[in-house]
Amino acid sequence: MNRNEQLFNRAKNVIPGGVNSPVRAFGSVGGTPRFIKKAQGAFVWDENGQRYIDYVGSWGPAIVGHAHPEVVEAVREAALGGLSFGAPTEGEILIAEKIAEILPSVERVRLVSSGTEATMSAIRLARGYTGRDKIVKFEGCYHGHSDSLLVKAGSGLLTYGNPSSAGVPEDFTRHTVVLPYNDTEALSQCFAEFGNRIACVILEPVAGNMNLVKPSAQFVHTLRRLTEQSGTVLIYDEVMTGFRVALGGVQSVHGIVPDLTTMGKVIGGGMPLAAFGGKKEIMDCISPLGGVYQAGTLSGNPLSVAAGLKTLEIIQREGFYEHLNALTERLVNGLNAAAQAAGATFVADSIGGMFGMYFADKVPQSYADMQASDVECFKRFFHGMLEGGVAFGPSAYEACFMSAAHTPELIDETVATAAKVFAQIG
Ligand SMILES: *Cc1c(COP(=O)(O)O)cnc(C)c1O
Repeated sequence: MNRNEQLFNRAKNVIPGGVNSPVRAFGSVGGTPRFIKKAQGAFVWDENGQRYIDYVGSWGPAIVGHAHPEVVEAVREAALGGLSFGAPTEGEILIAEKIAEILPSVERVRLVSSGTEATMSAIRLARGYTGRDKIVKFEGCYHGHSDSLLVKAGSGLLTYGNPSSAGVPEDFTRHTVVLPYNDTEALSQCFAEFGNRIACVILEPVAGNMNLVKPSAQFVHTLRRLTEQSGTVLIYDEVMTGFRVALGGVQSVHGIVPDLTTMGKVIGGGMPLAAFGGKKEIMDCISPLGGVYQAGTLSGNPLSVAAGLKTLEIIQREGFYEHLNALTERLVNGLNAAAQAAGATFVADSIGGMFGMYFADKVPQSYADMQASDVECFKRFFHGMLEGGVAFGPSAYEACFMSAAHTPELIDETVATAAKVFAQIG
């Protein structure tokens, strides 16, 4: 038995399912998860000593490459000065100022420790600010694991959602409406029906948790117009897309100014850090200024802030995104060409440093489209690539991530491996 298997079996004796976050268990693709021993640049190594070109990137944070020497040094230096104080620090101001500089829609920002905390707090804030209960989310979008967001569509288009997890009372999801992604018609209907009772709409402005799905311009512009007209808070959940699809996130690409933005992943450069921010008028409703309660013992942790600040500093450097985007495009073009040569039903797409791979004949526009893709084919592709030394996210419903530490040579190696795998899986 190899070491990954040994560790997985041991882990299962003390950790439910052997993992601390479910997708890591390889449940969607089968087989044994790789236990990672170390990572550097574009690579991760498992406990068997096998090296992989990594396109998981810790699910997005590793945008400058794993264990970037400047980031590691910033964390080391911060650690020497103490790990946590439970009191304000200058670093928190520096990173807040940097976030506000990068995202013009953010006038005030609060730091938290996870994306889940950021979206949960932003929703409470939107409810407190508007005095309304109802919220709207879209099918296939993931916003962390808080109760009111673990919801799937009800039977009718405008009926309330149902819990998508055991342990979530139906009463909690009564206030959540779930609409299909990219469906401008359904959106308009929803606002016509109860626009002035909706506290907020939360959107992944490019969806990355049902694989990569882009919105139409019509969809996002209609959403902004309808929310504005009805006094509904528009929350852009850019936990995945922020600092990833472009320095200023999707909002900078579409030229849309959301009321609140949630951030995570890249913002902590691999350390637990997330944030929510936006209009001053709304943000000032949170404690200690306002009546919406929100707090955190480790919020703005000095090590996380140091890693985040340094990461943001690196990605702000001249040419960073040109380089990152060129790498992603090289990979996507290479994969599409290899698939075509092998006659595989496959298409890849990307935006900035994020890409999607679909065993379908066209790029999906919605969760329903994604469900129509060939998941069995993805599984074979995933395992073929893994055996060939390339790590993608272990599910057909995950987006993948490029880092600036990847090189054209590594990408060509990835494409060559894919060409072989496409030929094998037919
Ligand atoms: C990852 C993610 C979250 C949740 O963040 P965690 O840090 O895992 O709690 C929320 N929203 C989106 C869009 C995400 O991709």
